[in-house]
Amino acid sequence: MTALNLPPIIRHRTRTALIGGIAIGGGSPIVVQSMTNTDTADVAATVAQVKALADAGSELVRVTVNTSEAAAAVPLIRDRLDALRCTVPLIGDFHFNGHKLLTNHPDCARALAKYRINPGNVGKGSRHDPQFAVMIEKAIEFGKPVRIGVNWGSLDQDLLGRLMDDNARSASPLDAAHVMREALVTSAIGSAQRAEEIGLPGDRILLACKVSDVQDLIAVYTELARRCDYPLHLGLTEAGMGSKGIVASTAALAVLLQQGIGDTIRISLTPEPNGDRTREVLVAQEILQTMGLRSFAPLVTACPGCGRTASPFFQKLADKIQSYLRAEMPQWRNRYPGVETMTVAVMGCVVNGPGESKMANVGISLPGTGEVPVAPVYVDGHKTVTLKGVGIAEEFQEIVADYVRATYGGEAPSAHLKPEKKSILLKAVG
Ligand code: SF4
Repeated sequence: MTALNLPPIIRHRTRTALIGGIAIGGGSPIVVQSMTNTDTADVAATVAQVKALADAGSELVRVTVNTSEAAAAVPLIRDRLDALRCTVPLIGDFHFNGHKLLTNHPDCARALAKYRINPGNVGKGSRHDPQFAVMIEKAIEFGKPVRIGVNWGSLDQDLLGRLMDDNARSASPLDAAHVMREALVTSAIGSAQRAEEIGLPGDRILLACKVSDVQDLIAVYTELARRCDYPLHLGLTEAGMGSKGIVASTAALAVLLQQGIGDTIRISLTPEPNGDRTREVLVAQEILQTMGLRSFAPLVTACPGCGRTASPFFQKLADKIQSYLRAEMPQWRNRYPGVETMTVAVMGCVVNGPGESKMANVGISLPGTGEVPVAPVYVDGHKTVTLKGVGIAEEFQEIVADYVRATYGGEAPSAHLKPEKKSILLKAVG
């Protein structure tokens, strides 16, 4: 055994929970989910965003249910999504008044596929246990699963205070960070056990313990996985904006996923002003796909470019092809099974271009500065055609489309897919 024999990822053994027909845990594929940021009471805006998230590939979508108006809107949102043939299960996010909303709005309780309960936000002191119990009883009544979603920002302060006091009295006290992590894990597992005592079956409970620090998240989930077999929802909370949010989420989740921990993931990115909410879905998919855990859409391999590429043409082509592949996926997903595993290479010069292109299903090696202005295309490792002139981008995109139809749709391959074809000269030469 050498370091080159990377051991396979062995998934942490968990129970299977069904969320509106989607299996989570028990070795099922890791599920991507997301959350809206519309006012749930605004039915039209929420329907539009849920649909966009589902079209992007989100397999579950959570909406906040914070007011009577929001609760009343949930069944309308469900009906409109169904009318649009969007069957993505909706999850209700409850805090503070969830016991009242679920009691007063049975149509909302029925329309949701899962309830998220934050044990730190179900009521303080003597109100905590009965209000928590009401929410669990509603889940039992309507046959729904729950996620016990603990969050560092709203950790049960009574519990934390008790653990801190116990720690202070201990002969060998632990540091505060350790006690905080213990409080998160204790809150999640203790709440799940309480839910089971009330009568909710154990296979209808999922757990999350979200924090915003990467090392804390890794420590907490590693311990959760050691102590329980409830399916685990992974996510770094308040991950942040832009590259910071993506990098921090990826760093934390990659470590856990490599250990086989995690049954569903959500990437909590702060959108840029007027940014696209679906970005969190793409990032989640790309984490799973680049780790080899699941495939969602063809991936484009592109070199970073360097002094050998004076023109931005290859960057534009890589972007154009990636956008094209994503735009086609909603139609391709059902029509061309397996297309999500396809790889496409767009390379900037002859140094690594041919080699990387041969490794992809379809690849193009563009000419670098000073090279002959031709672009050989490789299909399944064989050179098939050499493109030249101003229409390279369009021609290459058509070759990719031909490949999809032939390889995943069983259609006859076009001439461009056959090896050893001679050069094609497009109309205008640039
Ligand atoms: S393939 Fe060529 S252009 Fe791209 S990074 Fe490598 S040397 Fe530079």
